[in-house]
Amino acid sequence: MESKYCHSCGEQIAKTASTCPKCGAPQAGSVSHLISAATPRNKTLTVVFALILGAFGVHKFYLRQYVAGVIYLLFFWTYIPGLIALVEGSRFVFMSDADFDNRYNDGQQVNKSGPLAPILAAVTILMAIIAVLSIIVAIALPAYQDYRKRAEARSNKDKPLSKTPPARS
Ligand SMILES: [Zn+2]
Repeated sequence: MESKYCHSCGEQIAKTASTCPKCGAPQAGSVSHLISAATPRNKTLTVVFALILGAFGVHKFYLRQYVAGVIYLLFFWTYIPGLIALVEGSRFVFMSDADFDNRYNDGQQVNKSGPLAPILAAVTILMAIIAVLSIIVAIALPAYQDYRKRAEARSNKDKPLSKTPPARS
């Protein structure tokens, strides 16, 4: 069986263990390690959370801003948290790693953006454009359909019922 060493107590444990059986420390790569308050926050992951699950405040919970997270979750149906999260996600993309670590990792410089950073920035901008376009369509389409319906109703009213007079018996 493959094994690794617990980063906390040094005990040899199963490679797939999500927590150390001896000291209970969450192990890297597990969900519990990801959300553990002691784990440094990853900037890329924060951006992904904000853009994909931001309406539910997932990036807020991840950044340990639990009150804000609950507010997002309560009001997600208004679409407002989703829009704010989109802006926040874009801000994280353009925020320097050092700035992010100063804000969310107590100044521990743990984030080092790799070659994916420009791709992420491009995807963010694209998602923002799509979001804005879908809002415009969501507002404009029902208005257009309403206009069409009214125009149709009006032309039906103006139209004479029949061009030839009804035949008399
Ligand atoms: Zn341990």
